[in-house]
Amino acid sequence: MNQKARQTRRAASIGAATALGGLGMVGRSALAGPDESTTDEASRGTAPLVVGQQRRQPNVLLVTIDTLRTDHVGPGGARGVETPVLDKLAAQGAYGAAYVQLPQTLPNHASILTGTYIQTHGLRTTLWDQARPQVPTLDQIFRRAGYRTAGIVSWYSFDNEFTNLVRAWDHWEQVVMRLGAPERVMPDETRALFRAGTDMGKALDGDARTTTEAALGWLDANALRRDAGVAQPWFFWLHYRDPHYPFTPPPGFRPTAPVPAALDGGHESLGKITGGYAPTPGELAAILAAYDGEIAYTDAQLGRVMEKLDTLGLAQDTVVVVTGDHGESFLEHGPWDWLHGHSVYEGSVRVPLIVRYPAGGTGTSGQAGAAMTKPGVRFTEVVQSADIAPTVLELCGLAVPGTAGTAAAVGNTATTGTTEAMEARSFARLLAGQEEVGPERAAWGTIFDDSQSYVVQGEWKLIRWNDPARSRVGNELYHLASDPRETYDYRREVPDVAARLSAQLEGWLAAKDSGRPWRYWER
Ligand SMILES: [Zn+2]
Repeated sequence: MNQKARQTRRAASIGAATALGGLGMVGRSALAGPDESTTDEASRGTAPLVVGQQRRQPNVLLVTIDTLRTDHVGPGGARGVETPVLDKLAAQGAYGAAYVQLPQTLPNHASILTGTYIQTHGLRTTLWDQARPQVPTLDQIFRRAGYRTAGIVSWYSFDNEFTNLVRAWDHWEQVVMRLGAPERVMPDETRALFRAGTDMGKALDGDARTTTEAALGWLDANALRRDAGVAQPWFFWLHYRDPHYPFTPPPGFRPTAPVPAALDGGHESLGKITGGYAPTPGELAAILAAYDGEIAYTDAQLGRVMEKLDTLGLAQDTVVVVTGDHGESFLEHGPWDWLHGHSVYEGSVRVPLIVRYPAGGTGTSGQAGAAMTKPGVRFTEVVQSADIAPTVLELCGLAVPGTAGTAAAVGNTATTGTTEAMEARSFARLLAGQEEVGPERAAWGTIFDDSQSYVVQGEWKLIRWNDPARSRVGNELYHLASDPRETYDYRREVPDVAARLSAQLEGWLAAKDSGRPWRYWER
């Protein structure tokens, strides 16, 4: 993106990226949303494409929990927050962390669903960009492979009008609540509220219990459904929003300590900090406790979904993936480093990643009879959000768009005439505790206007600032293994590492600016 475009983006994104309450923007016309159940004829009617047909293909449950910091869930080492469901999943499956491609909800979900970087799928700015139709999404690929597809999300802005991500879902549902009330707001009304210029973040909320009820309903009706005597595998994306601000957990999950100076996790107190107020350590602790309460509440609700899988007898044959779409910053690097969307430091860009698939594998990476995910595996390699899509496809024995010999068969060819490759790299071998071949893993990401971008490789992270307006231009280098809080810049002490990572980042940015795919492990 050139400088002028970046400035335009910055101006256009003020509301989306910085307004606490969300988005008081109007001006889009024809906000006709998708039908609640959509079809994509282009991806229907094609014979299932199956690479490894030794076994019935597994179901896939992809759970994205909004605003989930790695160090605030049990397996990530958190204290003071109880996440027994995530802990158990991590113990049964493989656990690690993922770096996000952009620390905002819609852009990074688009990377999760397409296996591509932000610049490739094109959904860079929340509510202003849509994913490019040439880039295939997981729902399209799974449907084409014969899967039943369902997406149940907890926020209005996943609406196809804003995303072009609602493509091939047999069931699509936006479970959105009126803020502070146990009342569901249906898409027609959320669109009307948006058109009327409503501050959506202060009008609406997500609720994990209500979202879970919808999820259980879908599973009851579809998980074991047989059509003409044939059971169809399914791909189910379930999104929870509760850890996203405001931090207002329900009774039973609220902080037990008294809230100092009435500064809780609600919009008003968060807005006060956005406005420049420096909270006391006690006040910040109270806000963090409220954030943790939202995580614990979501964890408890997710437990009901996991129990349902057990009850239905599907735990063995379902790939469960749990991750965050981005983290949250709590002033670690200054008053500006607050909430998400503005920072590429660890709090905002590192999220948990759990994958559980107990069934014996015969897929492309598993040894026959060996678990596809080895219980209790902890992987420390650098993985990115976009890597999830090719990994899930590999675990299901499905071809990854762009893999040699398969590209023409899998993409969105019928609608666009083009097939685009996934840019990300499967980490399936890591889940089975196996060694990988190929170059060292790395992750690349940015924020909406590229004023900060980053690369992580091994134990090192390089951040490139390009923000003349704030007089911050240049690189920073952090040794994450010894300094996970990114407090000491090693750039001058290990110039060779700084130069290597800087070249990596420049290469990525140049490829992305020119529209070239970035499949780093093939170089
Ligand atoms: Zn989000």
